[in-house]
Amino acid sequence: TIQFQDIRKSFGDTEVLKGVGLNIADGEFLSLVGPSGCGKSTLLRILAGLESQTSGSVRIGGIPVDGLHAADRDLAMVFQSYALYPHLTVAENIAVPLTMRRLSPAQRLPVIGRAFPGSAAMRAEISTIVRDAADMLDIGHLLERKPGQLSGGQRQRVAVGRALVRDPAAFLLDEPLSNLDAKMRVHMRTEIAQLNRSLGATFVYVTHDQAEAMTMSDRIAVMMGGELLQVGTPDALYDFPNDIRVAQFIGSPA
Ligand code: ATP
Ligand code: MG
Repeated sequence: TIQFQDIRKSFGDTEVLKGVGLNIADGEFLSLVGPSGCGKSTLLRILAGLESQTSGSVRIGGIPVDGLHAADRDLAMVFQSYALYPHLTVAENIAVPLTMRRLSPAQRLPVIGRAFPGSAAMRAEISTIVRDAADMLDIGHLLERKPGQLSGGQRQRVAVGRALVRDPAAFLLDEPLSNLDAKMRVHMRTEIAQLNRSLGATFVYVTHDQAEAMTMSDRIAVMMGGELLQVGTPDALYDFPNDIRVAQFIGSPA
């Protein structure tokens, strides 16, 4: 379970999160929706440990993670700009978290620019994990290519693959499809929702596309101006919006 308790966040004297409370169940697909600037990415970054809240606490599996380094949270994040390493192959890009994982800086292997460092046994193990992830995402035939030789959708799969190999308890995805064309978006939507079911992992999915949220989610959390307006199943939000702004955003009949 992921629990946000009264999360507040200010940048200077602007409060961008105004006391957000939200529980996300294990295995749940929860979408965080709302207009640009409402605080979606900030909330996700706080969960990931990439930003610290001004007050309130985050618990994962009942344990407060405030102050815990991002690498020590059992989470994997996929960003809108998926920032692959251009000089590494697909296989090497996917392998990056495996070669960095849970190692102190002194122990970290110099992965960048070198294919699969470490012992032969470790290389073989990494290579198996990478291949399994790539096969799952249907990019097994692209492992030796560089990101520049891939389509947008293929690059997005590599970014998801890089999260997948960490085998996290939760995936945090921040507008992961916004760089894709309409057809690929629809296709990847289905794939990501399927991944949630087959892995049984929790997905927290940020989007400002209500259609995307409606089709993919177990529950949707609607944010506006740093506050959560309503959290519920797509049907519940559509049929029983508790606020005119929720109705407008979800597209319920007035
Ligand atoms: P979008 O849909 O456009 O990605 P969002 O809901 O993800 O929007 P956030 O990125 O969480 O919004 O930003 C929330 C508010 O906080 C915005 O007003 C933004 O300008 C502000 N903000 C975010 N990061 C910073 C920062 N590092 N310094 C100052 N203000 C920030
Ligand atoms: Mg954002």
